Order: sequence, then C-alpha cells, then structure tokens
Amino acid sequence: MSGSALYDTFARIPLVFERGEGSWLVTDKGERYLDFAAGIAVNSLGHSHPHLVSALTEQAGKLWHLSNLYEIPEQARLAERLVAASFADKVFFANSGAEALECAIKTARRYHYANGQPDRYRTITFEGAFHGRTLATIAAGGQQKYLEGFGPKADGFDQVPFDDMEALEKAIGPETAAILVEPVQGEGGIRLLSGQSLKRLRDLCDKHGLLLIFDEVQCGIGRTGKLFAYEWSGVAPDIMAIAKGIGGGFPLAACLATEEAARGMTAGVHGTTFGGNPLAMAVGNAVLDVVLADGFLDEVQRKALLFKQGLAAIADEFPGVIEGIRGTGLMLGLKCVLPAAEVNAALRGEKLLAVPAGDNVIRLLPPLTLTDEEIQQGLARIRAAAASLAPAEAAPAEAK
Ligand SMILES: *Cc1c(COP(=O)(O)O)cnc(C)c1O
Repeated sequence: MSGSALYDTFARIPLVFERGEGSWLVTDKGERYLDFAAGIAVNSLGHSHPHLVSALTEQAGKLWHLSNLYEIPEQARLAERLVAASFADKVFFANSGAEALECAIKTARRYHYANGQPDRYRTITFEGAFHGRTLATIAAGGQQKYLEGFGPKADGFDQVPFDDMEALEKAIGPETAAILVEPVQGEGGIRLLSGQSLKRLRDLCDKHGLLLIFDEVQCGIGRTGKLFAYEWSGVAPDIMAIAKGIGGGFPLAACLATEEAARGMTAGVHGTTFGGNPLAMAVGNAVLDVVLADGFLDEVQRKALLFKQGLAAIADEFPGVIEGIRGTGLMLGLKCVLPAAEVNAALRGEKLLAVPAGDNVIRLLPPLTLTDEEIQQGLARIRAAAASLAPAEAAPAEAK
C-alpha cells in the first residue's frame, strides 16, 4: 500500500492550509499564501466572507437537509433570482459541475424526445473542452487522458476542432441534439470564443433545430465581470450549467434552461438527493446578495483591467518566460514559454497560488473580492517568479 489511505488520483502539493482570510490562505506553519487559485474559481468571494459565514451558520442552526419531496422556499427563491438575472425560465439544482452538465445534456435529449424525435441525442463539443469526470462528461470533453482505461466512450458525443465553424456545421447530422461549449475554456487554457463565434453557434442551432448549451461552470457568476460570460456577446443559450462560484465554496451547481428547452423534464424523469438542500441554498442566495449588489461587477471589471495591464507589463519584460496574457475579467492566463508546471512552482515559491491549465497556460483566478493592494502584491510576486526563471541573457540587469 502507498503512504496514504486516499485514492492516489491527486498528485498533491505538500502544503497544509489551516484557514483562509479573504484572498489569503494560511498554512499550519503560519505561512501566508496569496490565493489566486481560489479553489479553482470556487471561492469567488474569498475565504471566510462574513456574509457567507453568517448565512451558513444561521441556516445550520435551523435545518440542514430536506428531501426534494417537500417545498424548499429558499430553493425557489434562488431559482427565481437566477431566472431574473439570466435568459432562463427554469432551474435544476445539483452539487457539482459534472452533475449540472449531466442535467443539461439530459435536458437537450429529452427535449427532442418530447418533440417526437427520440433519435436526436448527439451533442457536439469543441476540442480542449472540459465538462467534468463522470462517464458522460468525459465523453463530452473528449480528452483521451480522461477517457483512457474506462471502457467504451459513452455514445452520443462528437467533437470538432476548437472554434472551427466549418467542421462544426459538417458534423451536424440527423441525430444531433445540441452544441455544448464553454464561452471561455478554463482547463483548456483560458481560450475565449469571440462574440462572433457564439453568434454563429446560435445561428447554426436555430437553423438546424438544435439546442445551444453553455458550460459556465468556471466562467459564470461574475468571473468575467458580468454575472454570466455570455452576456458580453448578447448571445443567449437554451441551457446552461453553472457551479464553482455560485456556492462560494459550498458544493452547489445548477442547470438553467428556457421553458421550451426544459419541456421534456417532467415529474420523475430526473432527480437528486442532495441537490438544492437548505444549507446550499442559504449560501447560494448569500453569494448572489454580494455579486448582484450595486457596483460589485463594475468593480470586478475595473480590478480585472488593472491586473491584466500589470500582467502584460510582466510578459513584456520577461518574454523568455511568458509569451503573453489571455483571458477576460478575473479569468486570466499566462501563456508560458517555459513549462507551465515550472512557472507554477516558481509562483508557489513566491507564495502565490495559481492553477495550471492546458496549452501550457497558468490560470489566475483570484477571488472577485480582491483588493487593489492585493493585485499589486500579486503582480510583485508574479514578477519576482518570472525574474527568477528568466534566461540570464534576457534579464534586464544583464542587458548589453
Ligand atoms: C470544473 C468544471 C466542470 C466540472 O465541475 P465538477 O464540479 O468538478 O464536476 C465542468 N465544466 C467546467 C467548465 C469546469 O471548469
């Protein structure tokens, strides 16, 4: 047996964090790390946000869990707020991103079934996608490293190169039910679909009678400076999965849909034990209290610009380490020249936490609540890490 009783599925960094305060994590040895990973875009309001702590503890003293066999008023309220703030008419609550995507995929298939076209069940996705780790969502993501060894890939998913609209149109067949994309790919390496591409997807869906599904599990809930990333383009989906940021650290996810798209999801066809329980709903409502408060998202946009400008200056200064900056809002990526894992280790050496992604990119996903002072501290640490890695001849001090 290996050293731990845990599955060996995670290659863990040997750091033990004991508590969190806003944008900071504190180790058992009292070392303070600036947390620009935020639990991979989960701790949207940082750690120990007072409003979330009080919402959770207050609810914990009243009622934790209740089956969906009964009315849950806070669930109806959170659904109404999400509906009021989005394209959607209907919401299903779940516990993880993958589960929200499962619901989204099932909703699309069931829509065609309800329309008398049960043969339409296939979903088209883009290369580099990440939709979760269940058997259906690894098939949707299509990444070989996640599919290997788990038996035949679940049927019903077709993949085309990222943002390749010609290939996509060719892939649409009589069995196609839906197109599923992340408006901003997270794990794929912070890759954006332009407003023009999203519009093209919408047009193709309308032309061929398909449902458009957005995966905003990572880019939703204020991450890009709007509540949902799709708002920047004005292109609305028919179905959307959200998770990560909506719970602020409490496991919470949701599938949103128009009334039309959800028409097949009738009583008894789908369900969940834990999804939408009172504890999760108290926290989800508290997250929205903050994110939807006047001016909050404007501040995210302002801070994001400040941060991105600072990052661009660092990339200019150390072109041998960082090739460029990509992303939007507080969902930014350092496209690395050196291996991303090496850059990430150097950042950790400067006590800054970030997350590697595909395409040799380091993701920076700080809490949306970070301060200007923390942006400056973060930039100083990222600059120091880049300087420590810069090839000697490129270092400014040794320039000829
Ligand atoms: C994290 C993520 C998922 C999966 O969420 P889990 O909660 O890990 O199941 C799905 N889609 C995107 C875009 C993600 O970033």
